[in-house]
Amino acid sequence: MDLSYILNHLGEERGQYFDAVAPPIIQTSNFYFKNVNSLRNAFPNEKDVHVYTRGNNPTVEILRKKIAALAGAEDALVFSSGVAAISAAVMGNVQSGDHVVCVKKPYGWTDKLLNRFLSRYGVTNIMIDGTSIENFVAAIQPNTKVIFLESPNSFTFELQDIKAVVKLAKERGIVTIIDNSYCTSIGQRCIDMGVDIEVHSATKYFGGHSDVVAGYLMSSRKMADKIFASELLNMGGIISPNDAWLMIRSLRTLPLRLERIQASTAKVVDFMEHHPQVERVIFPFSESHPQHSLAKEQMQWCGGLFTAIIKAKDTSQVETFCNSLKRFLMAVSWGGYESLIMPACSFQNRDDLELKDYPYNMIRFYIGLEEPQVLIEDIEQAFQKIG
Ligand SMILES: *Cc1c(COP(=O)(O)O)cnc(C)c1O
Repeated sequence: MDLSYILNHLGEERGQYFDAVAPPIIQTSNFYFKNVNSLRNAFPNEKDVHVYTRGNNPTVEILRKKIAALAGAEDALVFSSGVAAISAAVMGNVQSGDHVVCVKKPYGWTDKLLNRFLSRYGVTNIMIDGTSIENFVAAIQPNTKVIFLESPNSFTFELQDIKAVVKLAKERGIVTIIDNSYCTSIGQRCIDMGVDIEVHSATKYFGGHSDVVAGYLMSSRKMADKIFASELLNMGGIISPNDAWLMIRSLRTLPLRLERIQASTAKVVDFMEHHPQVERVIFPFSESHPQHSLAKEQMQWCGGLFTAIIKAKDTSQVETFCNSLKRFLMAVSWGGYESLIMPACSFQNRDDLELKDYPYNMIRFYIGLEEPQVLIEDIEQAFQKIG
């Protein structure tokens, strides 16, 4: 199935809604049945028929069909946030006494899910450096049920060899889950590489307009059935029909936005790498990235996010640089139309100059849809303020 068919037509039954080109927002909580027998037949099948919007809704269903096909998965579920999708994926595959192997420095709330939340229910974990497969081999215990990957992660961009981890997990009967928010399903084909569950903060590139918080989960039908019947229906972290409609709208332009972002990011990264006031740039498609060849092998797309370590005497110079940028908004998140910065010194003590993982002079950049030259000129004038 080609990409344009998936994004423009799949799942859209236009004859059912006045031949309207754009689908309707079916803003209803429930659906009625004409006789007892059809209601009886619907109950065991809530994921695929329409009973109640906490389970399935026609607008959400269009979105589910499209994102499943986009990822090359049999099925997909949509959640009210990326974190809801991540929690459902993990919790659907563990019980008290089980163990999770997770990569170090995952998204912050993935870390808290394992170390502050699931730990209360008797699920233990180990967080490992995922850049070497030997570390996975060493971390697996007899009760390990899930390996959680995030490749690359979203601040320092360490990768895992996805195919190698999948091979190991399959030999041991362990479920693999990957947070694929950095690349999207277009930029990294996790399901094709054998990963069991792909999850996304769809708030980022999939939404693309900084106006919706949402999460996606793609997997086999069997896995989706299991998570639907338990975590989705029980915890109820569903998307509203209105937000699902906005997410369908966003899918129409996803490949175009990714193309533009990749081209612009390459230009800004190149500028930064040659800048005398930059110590180092971390970007998976840069030749200087320690896992560059693995990145080229398993990622079809890379753009938007990179991190720069700038030359600055102290935190106050970093702050002057950040505060001087006019075209970059200082904000969390990424994946929208607007360029952003996130300085590491904002989430730690101002005087702490010795932190290895997130040094005071590390700044994450996100490149949006602006003209790259405008962004480059903005960075240059900010450097001049501390030069
Ligand atoms: C933002 C983000 C999340 C969380 O997603 P929400 O939609 O904010 O709940 C998870 N993983 C990564 C990599 C993210 O960047």
